[in-house]
Amino acid sequence: MRLIILGCGGFVGSHLLDRLLLRDDIEVEGWDPETHKISHHLGNPRLTLHQVTCIAGPEIEKLGKSLEKADVVINLAAICSPSEYNTNPLAVIRSNFVDVYPIVDLCAHANKWLLHFSTSEIYGRTLASYLSDPADKDNPDFYELREDETPLVMGPVTNQRWSYACAKQMTERYIYAHHTSNGLPFTIIRPLNFFGPKMDYIPRRDGDGVPRVLACFMSALLKREPMKLVDGGAARRTIVAVEEAVIAIEKMLDRPERAINRTFNIGNRQNEVTMRELAVEMRNVYAEITGDGSYRDHPIIDVSAEEFYGLGYEDCDRRMPDLSQAENCLDWRAERSLRDILVPTMQDYHDQYYAESSNVG
Ligand code: UDP
Repeated sequence: MRLIILGCGGFVGSHLLDRLLLRDDIEVEGWDPETHKISHHLGNPRLTLHQVTCIAGPEIEKLGKSLEKADVVINLAAICSPSEYNTNPLAVIRSNFVDVYPIVDLCAHANKWLLHFSTSEIYGRTLASYLSDPADKDNPDFYELREDETPLVMGPVTNQRWSYACAKQMTERYIYAHHTSNGLPFTIIRPLNFFGPKMDYIPRRDGDGVPRVLACFMSALLKREPMKLVDGGAARRTIVAVEEAVIAIEKMLDRPERAINRTFNIGNRQNEVTMRELAVEMRNVYAEITGDGSYRDHPIIDVSAEEFYGLGYEDCDRRMPDLSQAENCLDWRAERSLRDILVPTMQDYHDQYYAESSNVG
């Protein structure tokens, strides 16, 4: 099987390569400007890498030629850093829609299977978050995220946080329109908070801005700074191990007939936590990793969303996926508990950064 993977050097792409390059029957043509997460694969004869910043202009032509020999195009290329959604919205919209639609066009014209990574953010806020009756908040019809039923609810245009979700949603709609108009074979993945080693970066050490919550909390622990809870830490997320999530993709590749022309939530319902609970659990795990019990009392402070992310941030309150589609079509189910995800992930951050953590602040 010959795969084109756009964005193969990122967090998810690197784990996907780790899994797929174990197999002799898979060849990958990858595209990514960054290689530090996949440096261990660079000598692999079954990986050809195009190290380019943006797939546009002449790169689109090159991609068009490569496409002829490929079985599937997996698109992971995107700016998907939450701190940029409201601070750098033009780049976010370009990268998640404007730069993607020529790739969708290419796949449609070549009638090639496009496996596109979207986001659970396209669901926006739950209906429950707008309802005042407590009984409604506990009604799965108002909070559960179902691929083909749940309304997509976003805040106003002036809350630019939704630039990412909206661009991703437009791309999904564009793919679907090509499917209904031109027969484009597609699969859409909506990831729900994949966690694992190599996720994000440590701010002021190897990146700018605000990474996702895992790296923010990890950074705070490493630098012995307070962990910051945005708006009281009430937002809820379900966490899935990235190593388990990429198995779902492998199953799609092995049984295309079960995956094509479907949209899949990929997540783990068992691992739902509020951000406050996540902070507490991470403190405890880090106390175990370091053998330093004082981490159990590591300071946790409240900050407003505006203070933390700037103007125009609005949160997704809850992300509880319906996973019956992934279970029934792919026979896939994630099993690792939050703790089993955090221990090796935090150990990996610790091994990479702890020794120099006194200098990163
Ligand atoms: N968050 C937080 N403290 C941080 C970073 C993030 O409380 O240091 C919150 C953020 O407001 C959101 C949740 O954690 O409610 C998850 O944020 P993340 O950036 O991981 O991405 P998301 O799941 O929203 O896509």
